[in-house]
Amino acid sequence: MAEQFEYSEKVMDHFRNPRNVGEVKNPDGVGRVGNPVCGDLMEIQIKVENNILKDVKFKTFGCGSAIATSSMITEMAIGKTLEEALKITRGDVAAELDGLPPIKMHCSNLAADALHAAIKDYMAKKEEKTKTEAEKYDFDVIVVGGGPGGLTTGILCAYRGLKTAIFEASSWGGILAWLCPTNMVENFPGLSEKTTCKDLVDTWMGEAGKLKVELKKERVNEITKDMKVIAQSGEYRSKIIVLATGTSPATAGVKGEEKFSKEDRGVYYYVTNPDKFTGKRVLIVGGGNSAVDAALSIVDTADLITIAHRHNELRAVEHKLERLKASDKIKILYDTELTEISGAEKVEKAIMHDLKEDETIQQVVDSVILAVGMTPNTEIFKKLGIEMDENGYIKTDKSQKTNIAGIYAVGDIASDLALVVVAVAHGATVAHNAYIELRKPYWR
Ligand SMILES: Cc1cc2nc3c(=O)[nH]c(=O)nc-3n(C[C@H](O)[C@H](O)[C@H](O)COP(=O)(O)OP(=O)(O)OC[C@H]3O[C@@H](n4cnc5c(N)ncnc54)[C@H](O)[C@@H]3O)c2cc1C
Repeated sequence: MAEQFEYSEKVMDHFRNPRNVGEVKNPDGVGRVGNPVCGDLMEIQIKVENNILKDVKFKTFGCGSAIATSSMITEMAIGKTLEEALKITRGDVAAELDGLPPIKMHCSNLAADALHAAIKDYMAKKEEKTKTEAEKYDFDVIVVGGGPGGLTTGILCAYRGLKTAIFEASSWGGILAWLCPTNMVENFPGLSEKTTCKDLVDTWMGEAGKLKVELKKERVNEITKDMKVIAQSGEYRSKIIVLATGTSPATAGVKGEEKFSKEDRGVYYYVTNPDKFTGKRVLIVGGGNSAVDAALSIVDTADLITIAHRHNELRAVEHKLERLKASDKIKILYDTELTEISGAEKVEKAIMHDLKEDETIQQVVDSVILAVGMTPNTEIFKKLGIEMDENGYIKTDKSQKTNIAGIYAVGDIASDLALVVVAVAHGATVAHNAYIELRKPYWR
């Protein structure tokens, strides 16, 4: 051991040939300490990999002992786990140097303090990062589906101060944006007569942005019972989940449908571009608003339009039926069922069954539009055990709550009435109840 006021050989060696002097590139942690009595300053920078100190470097503005203790502690720390390194004491540093004069013991204190400070800095940053990462994935309310129901639910929840995200797999605005962006919005009191579906969706998107709703353009693949929403970009957690996945056009299940519904071969489920039907002979199958809308939307472009309906009456709103009847281009076949679509590469013929006469009808056609209703989009939550009716629509109570705690449903997926105004009202109901459930206000 060194004499009380003499330096050991090891101290002298580390003082003359200090190890690990300098800076770590992109350090994970930095510790700076100073001694107000002697004025020494010490900085230690560390690099951490898998909880192990891979690199430790120091800079000091101090005496020979400060240099030697810093140099020694870097050698002692490299290769140790963070927990082991945190246990290195000033006594350990001094012992490793074969002792220090008592008057210089504060130098070893400084080295140990700087190392511990660097490790604590790393740990604090890591914790902060983990917290921020976790916050990125944590919400009060996650809405699955960005149609009218989902968007307005998100807007109204965010208006109540709830941290809200909406996931949309394809088109913001849902059916309105996807099937009929340039149509006027009907049945929604208070809008200008010139308001198109796209205008309304754009307004909602603007409001959602202003209220800082997180809009995530990605598909949700699964929802778990422990309130996880599994999407393409990761696993999200939410206190409340709102199902707003809407509906998709149903298939008719007739022979030839699958073959001709691909690659623009003549079978469609809706009209997005009336010009596509210019000069065509078109068969529309169905008798509700969708079939009537489809016929009216191509009345100026198609050559001949036939509507085939299973029943003996159409089921659409009066003013549309009047427009339909006023057109001499539209022929209606009541009590008629489509049985087959045939052709070589493209649709050429529709084979139908006249239910009254019990005979087969064949008609030469270029296109078939199957407006046979909508099917609820329920595949992602089938495993959840959500209660549905016999047609696959979600059952809710008057608060829009499903049978699973914390899970609500809005819009077409939970309604007999496919109307935007109904979806918006569902959104308001959910926002109110979610606020009460999460914030527990004094008035409840
Ligand atoms: C041609 C047509 C015209 C219409 N015109 C009117 C009208 O003028 N006035 C009126 O009041 N109503 C109208 N309707 C009805 C109206 O469009 C619906 O009532 C409304 O769109 C329902 O909204 P929603 O949010 O429940 O569902 P949708 O609009 O169907 O939206 C559901 C959304 O959920 C998304 N989604 C589904 N699954 C997932 C998933 N796993 N992950 C992420 N996202 C998912 C879908 O991509 C979709 O965008 C019309 C309907 C049609 C077909």
